[in-house]
Amino acid sequence: MSQQLGGQPIIILRQGTTRNRGQEAQNSNIAAAKAVANAVRSTLGPKGMDKMLIDGMGDIVITNDGATILRQMDIDHPAAKMMVEIAKTQDDEVGDGTTSAVVIAGELLKNAESLLNQQVHPTVITEGYQQAAKKAREILSAIAISVKPTDSTLLKKIAETAISGKGAEAYRELLCDIVVRAVTRVADPDGTVDLGHINVQKKVGGKVEDTTIIEGMVIDKERGNPGMPRVVKNAKVLLLNAALEYRKTEVNAKINISRPDQEQAFLDADAQMVHTMADKVAASGANVVFCQKGIDDVAQHYLTKAGVFAVRRVKKSDIENLARATGATIINSLDVITKGDLGTAGIVEEKKLSGQEMIFVSGCKNPKAVSIVIRGGSEHVIDELERGMHDALMVVSDVVKDKKIVPGGGSPEIELSLQLRHYASTVGGRIQLAIEAFASALEVIPRSIAENAGLDPIDMIVEIRAAHEAGKRTFGLDACEGKPADMLKAGVVEPLRVKTQAIMSATEAAVMILRIDDVFASSKSAGPAGRSMPPGMGDY
Ligand code: ADP
Ligand code: MG
Repeated sequence: MSQQLGGQPIIILRQGTTRNRGQEAQNSNIAAAKAVANAVRSTLGPKGMDKMLIDGMGDIVITNDGATILRQMDIDHPAAKMMVEIAKTQDDEVGDGTTSAVVIAGELLKNAESLLNQQVHPTVITEGYQQAAKKAREILSAIAISVKPTDSTLLKKIAETAISGKGAEAYRELLCDIVVRAVTRVADPDGTVDLGHINVQKKVGGKVEDTTIIEGMVIDKERGNPGMPRVVKNAKVLLLNAALEYRKTEVNAKINISRPDQEQAFLDADAQMVHTMADKVAASGANVVFCQKGIDDVAQHYLTKAGVFAVRRVKKSDIENLARATGATIINSLDVITKGDLGTAGIVEEKKLSGQEMIFVSGCKNPKAVSIVIRGGSEHVIDELERGMHDALMVVSDVVKDKKIVPGGGSPEIELSLQLRHYASTVGGRIQLAIEAFASALEVIPRSIAENAGLDPIDMIVEIRAAHEAGKRTFGLDACEGKPADMLKAGVVEPLRVKTQAIMSATEAAVMILRIDDVFASSKSAGPAGRSMPPGMGDY
């Protein structure tokens, strides 16, 4: 870029940098963001289609999940990348509503484009959008319905709505039942849920129907020695964060051995020490030991002799979940074990699953950590089940935390657009135009759900709007029945948090993109293909 100043051009950018400004920059950004929204729009709702994504290595992913689709797409345009960002945020924060967030952002930008063409300044649009989003949040909390976190029928409906349309839907009865049991189990009394306490294991093989929840833990390990019992009933579980092995001298000690019997004595002393450790474990009354550190061969030998089921090098997170599941305290030193430190489990056993040994700790009393083992014929099936299950786990825990839901099927979007239009008329001025544009953008949700279900979107929206104006605020589109219906009765319900977050992050992305009026792009330092590749690759 150069500017004339007293006849002398001043170059402030490095050669090769391109600059894209004003309307041109805006148009390009909006077009890119809209393209992203359009790419995922056909997956929205229970009748949405799937996408097949093939990566550079030829690996295939088939999914209906917005966040996964966008993550797999090799997106290069900076504005398009912002759209991918909102999908990621939505997925991390609330676990669902990713497609909705992206589709709403795309529609907000589309409507902004026509305001820009009418010479409405971008600042007016962004202000209007932010005001509208704030108002939308208020309206949403006003229409939200309070629920009991113990209402498992309702929690199941929340889970079912989240996985409808996904590959996991065919097994929704089973999966949603598992999800609700799992979340209810691990929830703390104050409603906080840490999904880290739900240990999800994927094992290819068997049927999807074999997917189960274990009220306890499943650990991808084997017992230390085949001589140990395979099954322990009425297990007394010791969790150890200390090594059961001879501690190698830390400093370089020099040991002078002048006679063969001295060496033997030295080795005997080592073995004796480990023997004492194993004795202490057995003396604690434990018949099962999970050790986060190592257990050496000598210790294994003595533990086997004492009939103890011992597992070494168990992951820290597994040990922590075992503590929650069995009620055991994690012990750091063998010298201070008390009876109260031991946990209990109805049964601890090693079982083969698809040819691989795993340890099942089940029959725990009131476990605060559980495991889910997902089964299925192929990796693709299991991965899509896991994604569906993840969404369901997230939405159920959202509701357990917040205790607030809203109807789905486009119902809150229609209500919002009606109320926001009314609000716009009280604001007046040019901002009114922006708020109205925001209001109509939200209708993209019911419109897309209808389109994807092969229904006439205009008829559906008119009918739902009329129902809302008549005071039936929970009316939305029942995509399975193909007609407007009371979403609460149809059991199509979502966490309030998912809706709020989708609208907030969509607004944020749209505003961010609209504020940009200048794009400076440095030339890529990569090879001739313009792609960044490791040196040496791509030169063929
Ligand atoms: P997202 O990634 O935004 O969650 P989905 O493809 O999961 O996208 O679609 C979510 C939308 O589908 C929500 O608006 C939800 O209310 C709606 N929905 C779910 N089940 C039904 C149903 N049976 N009938 C109509 N709409 C539904
Ligand atoms: Mg969803």
